[in-house]
Amino acid sequence: MKQLAILGSTGSIGQNALKVVAAFPERFSVAALAAHSSVDLLAEQIHRFRPEVAVVIDANRAAQLRDRVGNGPPVQILHGSDGYAAAASLPSVHTVLTAMVGAAGLMPTLAAIDAGKSIALANKETLVMAGDIVMARAREKEVSILPVDSEHSAIFQCLAGNRRQDLDRILLTGSGGPFRTRDRESFAAITVEEALAHPNWQMGPKITIDSSTLMNKGLEFIEARHLFDVPPERIEVVIHPQSIVHSMVAYADGSVMAQLGAPDMRGAIAYALSYPERLALKLPVPDFAALGQLTFEAPDMDKFRCLALALKACEGGGTLPAVLNAANEVAVEAFLDHRLPYDGIAAVVEETLARCGSTRSVDMAGILDADRQGRVVAAEVATRLGPR
Ligand code: MG
Repeated sequence: MKQLAILGSTGSIGQNALKVVAAFPERFSVAALAAHSSVDLLAEQIHRFRPEVAVVIDANRAAQLRDRVGNGPPVQILHGSDGYAAAASLPSVHTVLTAMVGAAGLMPTLAAIDAGKSIALANKETLVMAGDIVMARAREKEVSILPVDSEHSAIFQCLAGNRRQDLDRILLTGSGGPFRTRDRESFAAITVEEALAHPNWQMGPKITIDSSTLMNKGLEFIEARHLFDVPPERIEVVIHPQSIVHSMVAYADGSVMAQLGAPDMRGAIAYALSYPERLALKLPVPDFAALGQLTFEAPDMDKFRCLALALKACEGGGTLPAVLNAANEVAVEAFLDHRLPYDGIAAVVEETLARCGSTRSVDMAGILDADRQGRVVAAEVATRLGPR
């Protein structure tokens, strides 16, 4: 029985992970659940999965949660950053699934690594912000970090059984999002509703917007660079609108391995939780004859400025990716709140990167500092730019 801590249990990844847990009760149990503020759903999850510990963002929500759980199952309810760290390092926990949204995932993931837990990593911002530090810490603690992001799970699977020195490059695929064929001139008019309608994947609002701007692909590029210790020049983004190929790896002899499957997050989640075994999830195998064709194209870097900016930040290194991420979080929130037009997201990120500059060699304090500074500058730029 593998005991899990699920950080971000009320989000899209968290809910899918609990579906996997529910389907394989003989393999997994839940020791800790952590959410931000979805108290009602978390209370339901506590009743169903009976964790030892549950965590929410603040004391107010913790009181609400105690109220909702009432005379239900016994559970220790904690809150705030100490609470998240406690859930991540709970003695009974074997694997921590980090599925919190954004920069909030960084410190709990580090706490889990320090406590020697296996990590199922869904929070890509952890590696975007502090990839060098996090990967070094994981090596030092001999902790494995297994990817939950579908692309990185695919790359991980394509690397299995091959020699690393034979790797030529990683081909990171992405659907291109809902605006792949839309004119750049009309980007300013894109509404929140349009941007939240992703063609292939069902996800939370932040990552759905990131997928539409291709910032998600940029963050994944930086994530891949750290997770697989591959320099940026050996990672290539390929647009593949059908989302059937989840990514590929090319070898020195020109041979390419790809991992394919239906776009359903349970595949990557289950693989990270049960590696090296494959669970009988019975997700439908794609009907290739019905699909007819799989297509591929180069990303349009002029149209999708966020991807170009992320690649530049990856190249520059240091604190630039942390600033990029902070600016993007602020800009996406402003867009979702109707305080910034859609094309303002890239503009905020670009100006914030230019104004914040970068420090090359960084420690954790430097990263958190860059994150704070990035947020302040981005908020200023967002206020100036929008709404239109
Ligand atoms: Mg992904």
